[in-house]
Amino acid sequence: MALELVTIPCLTDNYAYLIHNAATGETALVDVPEALPILAALQVRGWRLNHILITHHHPDHIDGVPAVVAATGAKVTGARADAHRLPPLDSKVADGDTLMICGEACHVIDVSGHSIGHVAFHFPASALVFTADSLMALGCGKLFEGTPAIAYASLLKLAALPGDPLVCSGHEYTAGNARFAATLEQGNPALMSRIDRVTALREKGEPTVPSRLSDELATNPYLRAHLPQMKAAVGMPSATDTEVFAEIRARKDRF
Ligand code: ZN
Ligand code: FE
Repeated sequence: MALELVTIPCLTDNYAYLIHNAATGETALVDVPEALPILAALQVRGWRLNHILITHHHPDHIDGVPAVVAATGAKVTGARADAHRLPPLDSKVADGDTLMICGEACHVIDVSGHSIGHVAFHFPASALVFTADSLMALGCGKLFEGTPAIAYASLLKLAALPGDPLVCSGHEYTAGNARFAATLEQGNPALMSRIDRVTALREKGEPTVPSRLSDELATNPYLRAHLPQMKAAVGMPSATDTEVFAEIRARKDRF
């Protein structure tokens, strides 16, 4: 049986996620922008929190950790490479590690780029991948620490995940990402119909995340840098995939 997933809006545009195994009663939290909405989500369901998984060091992903640990006693897992700038870790992990979380195997994937040491958590049995500010709905995180080559290699790892997982990303940035994507691929019918769906969801105040990896592959410009039509769209028909990715990211920064 797949893990139950709860998407929790936090702060102004962040998301935290709960996963729960109904058979074992175990619950895990991915990222902690703030404590109160997360503690409320646990309380209404009567769930006890066992694990906190941290994706990266930015305050909007970790500020609620001390309060949630104090309230729940949950054990904290994060990247060994980032231990110096994360809250105290009970478990330090690195790319390629496999953890057991809520009774399921969880693969740790280094997705550096937005930050160096950013990790994603992949649960293949439940087809979930928690990407925070690496791969996002119709977008990717700004490159604060990594080079375009590092960030693009990280996105390619996520793009290659089997089983078409749900991409559980860290922010509600999709509408802005959609407006930018439309500047590159007006002729992509999958993008145009996704933009309509995103607009309808946002008009109702509903989250546009999580999203299916197959939808990202069909519409997310950063996952389409290898395609001739995308290279043509940025006027770089003979550039490498990484160069085209870098150009798309730079255009978004100016958008
Ligand atoms: Zn971040
Ligand atoms: Fe963030």
